Amino acid sequence: MDQVDQVCFRHSWQYILDTSVYPREPTPLKELRDASASHPKFFYATAPDAGQLLALLLKMANAKQTIEIGVFTGYSLLLAALTIPEDGMITAIDIDRKAYEMGLPIIKKAGVEHKINFVESPALPVLDKLLEDKDKEGSFDFAFVDADKENYHNYHEKLMKLIKVGGIVVYDNTLWGGTVALPEKDVPEAKRDIRKHALEFNHKISADPRVEICLAPLGDGVTICRRIC
Ligand code: SAH
Ligand code: CA
Repeated sequence: MDQVDQVCFRHSWQYILDTSVYPREPTPLKELRDASASHPKFFYATAPDAGQLLALLLKMANAKQTIEIGVFTGYSLLLAALTIPEDGMITAIDIDRKAYEMGLPIIKKAGVEHKINFVESPALPVLDKLLEDKDKEGSFDFAFVDADKENYHNYHEKLMKLIKVGGIVVYDNTLWGGTVALPEKDVPEAKRDIRKHALEFNHKISADPRVEICLAPLGDGVTICRRIC
């Protein structure tokens, strides 16, 4: 990208936020975004433009039973809880309960806490536990994966059993700051390890016949998968 392209890209992104995202962002989500701004890792929170896409996908999938891997203060969790029906349930997994508790008062105020089963744990054993119950196979409509990037391929294998055929799995940060498109020598040392995992994951998912995919360049890259077999 030359400099003019970069300026155009930044302006388009701001344009999208100003015209179609912020004016429609539900008040509790905006509150949660503002409250999370004081967290030292505020940048973990799902980008609001990617969030808008998630809400749309949840609605289009008629999602009721969902899984969320990587909650942080709960931006994507709250948006899912606001979107799914009254009798829907989100199994939300994170190793950091403290961050979740930062957003919890806003989730409670929004009246959607009853749709959330928060599990404080690394995600893989929780998915394994779910898979011990045969009734859980193919019982979820939707999953959002936004935690430890080095495990995305492991999450994918388990989610391919837990999500029903026709269900949706969304993976966040699959462009890893755009570093996946750069030669390794141009990538800052600190980003190389996860970049490698992102490259491997993107390659695997592209070759996976069990899913239809789209890597949408929203936020930090959002890979949408629809299980087809
Ligand atoms: N979706 C969130 C952002 C998640 S940030 C939002 O919209 O705000 C990534 C989160 O993954 C962090 O909160 C971190 O504690 C969690 N995490 C990291 N490793 C994990 C693991 N192995 N299992 C579950 N959660 C993990
Ligand atoms: Ca993310």
